[in-house]
Amino acid sequence: MQKGELLYKGKAKSVYKTTDADRYIMLYRNDTSAFDGQKLAQLDRKGKVNNHFNAFIMQQLATAGIATHFEKLLNDTESLVKRLEMIPVECVVRNVAAGSLVRRLGVSEGMELNPPTFEFFLKNDALHDPMINDYHILAFKWASADEIQQMKTLTFKVNTLLKAMFAKAGMVLVDYKLEFGRYRGQVLLGDEFSPDGCRVWDAQSGEKLDKDRFRQDLGNVIEAYEEVARRLGVPLP
Ligand code: UDP
Repeated sequence: MQKGELLYKGKAKSVYKTTDADRYIMLYRNDTSAFDGQKLAQLDRKGKVNNHFNAFIMQQLATAGIATHFEKLLNDTESLVKRLEMIPVECVVRNVAAGSLVRRLGVSEGMELNPPTFEFFLKNDALHDPMINDYHILAFKWASADEIQQMKTLTFKVNTLLKAMFAKAGMVLVDYKLEFGRYRGQVLLGDEFSPDGCRVWDAQSGEKLDKDRFRQDLGNVIEAYEEVARRLGVPLP
């Protein structure tokens, strides 16, 4: 299996074809973006931290019975994944109010959400990823009713597992975003799980340990990602 041509360059990762038609290589770059790409920076070590972080989480999820596209780490910044036909929606679960929920509903940041909430967003930067619901997904045929159900079930299963894992390590998993894709008739977890796509707070102090440090200019962004990794037991090079 050899690396082929660049297929797609996203804001933080690049996807390459391989000589195996069913496998892609995902390259994690140091490029960091926020606010639909309006704020950009290069953060040293981010590519390798997120690649190793994602590998660890995906392996934990697979062990717990959640099928993912992740196959193996190839090196510090690259992983081998299954080629998915991506479903163009983002699935967001929230355990604590923060971010766009606070702006949209005027609730206080830090309010515990019981039960946790689930939201769909359309993946469309030009439209600023608008919030959508099941009816939009069905009407525009972005996914079937069965796929919608599977995305919800899997996203909440991930929540049960990861919330407990973060709590054990002295952290609160505030919210996160997942993306799914189709592979041989099955819905698999795709994209990545890293501090770029979730919110994590220290359980004692409430200190933010995720991409909000970049969004809000709090500094020590990658140091915080490394701290989350260290507490979870992610092996970093
Ligand atoms: N998120 C993401 N990519 C996006 C939008 C959101 O990874 O395009 C993550 C974000 O990091 C947070 C969660 O999804 O952990 C919920 O984000 P929110 O809706 O609060 O939006 P934001 O405040 O990030 O604009």
